[in-house]
Amino acid sequence: MKLAARVNQVSTSLTLAISAKAKAMKAEGIDVCSFSAGEPDFPTPKHICEAAKTALDEGKTRYGAAVGELKLRQAIANKLKTDNNLNYQAENIIVTNGGKFSLFNLMQALIEPGDEVIIPAPYWLSYPEMVKLASGTPVIVNTLAENDYKITPEQLEQAITPNSKLFVFNSPSNPTGTVYSPDEVRALAKIIVERDILVVSDEIYEKILYDDAQHLSIGSINDEILARTIVSSGFAKSHSMTGWRVGYAAAPLELLQAMAKIQSHSTSNVCTFAQYGAIAALESSQECVQEMVQAFAQRRIYMYEAINAIPKLSCPKPYGAFYLFVDISQTGKKSLDFCNELLESKQVAAIPGIAFGMDDCVRFSYATDLNTIKEGLKRLTEFVEQ
Ligand code: GLU
Repeated sequence: MKLAARVNQVSTSLTLAISAKAKAMKAEGIDVCSFSAGEPDFPTPKHICEAAKTALDEGKTRYGAAVGELKLRQAIANKLKTDNNLNYQAENIIVTNGGKFSLFNLMQALIEPGDEVIIPAPYWLSYPEMVKLASGTPVIVNTLAENDYKITPEQLEQAITPNSKLFVFNSPSNPTGTVYSPDEVRALAKIIVERDILVVSDEIYEKILYDDAQHLSIGSINDEILARTIVSSGFAKSHSMTGWRVGYAAAPLELLQAMAKIQSHSTSNVCTFAQYGAIAALESSQECVQEMVQAFAQRRIYMYEAINAIPKLSCPKPYGAFYLFVDISQTGKKSLDFCNELLESKQVAAIPGIAFGMDDCVRFSYATDLNTIKEGLKRLTEFVEQ
């Protein structure tokens, strides 16, 4: 069979592949400690499940508008105003199959051959692949651990060419847990406006912050940047709704309408009753989010200290999300070998940094319970010592 050339240009998602492998090993009865998926281990809060069940009972099982239920779009617009000081109307919102499809859809709506998309590395592994699937060119800008893996305004400026169309900005970051300070966000926004490019701000981890870290939504800075911003987010991480596949994008109207067109020929609407769960997630108390963040905070400190105590391993302190991006260069191994051997010999699953554009690192997710973390780190220490 001759497959389309575009398939060969992209790799399989390693986050999904390794997480699936770890789950399959567990199902076989193997005692795996999984630090692989960025998937909160908590059940979806009850009131959200109840709202979806009620929607089912009420017969909300039909096709809906491809862009999403109006009530949810309105609730998202309200949330963006209240939480993020972003001025969007319901008509600027599209409900998508997870945050992931909002990004995929955006690339399809915006990017064409010759267009460059600037992506700081380490990056979430699907960004460059989505750009390639849209026939665009990912322009990777390497950042430094010494600079907490943040792209500097100078680096952004230098990466911009006449072909640059979009900058992918992700704070808090997957895979590093880095959070840009409000001043750093403002400095990047200034360049985006001056050089007249667009920015997609992936804010899926905005609620998962530690210590005094603050999240500033780049589009809230002024009208010039808002006109050049697309916000991507969803409910998976904040409300432990990974399998629900409810995400969204907010964008200027013309772009939103283009994305709606693509959605009408691809996924159509997100599962109708799942959208009612998302409405409940937004309209109820956010205490459940804070409870999860408190649990992550405890795990974060434990893991951060334990990993830095292992000879030959080190990582910067994360201020958001639930990942540690660990430098393994002193072990003399590259990330794929490190992760394969760790899984084979110690049944500990983690994601090789090469997937995120840095082969000297490995990503450990701490969206898993403290007992698994303790046992997994014991095995990791033995592995590195051997
Ligand atoms: N975003 C999560 C992660 O990085 C889930 C898997 C994926 O979609 O990549 O682990």
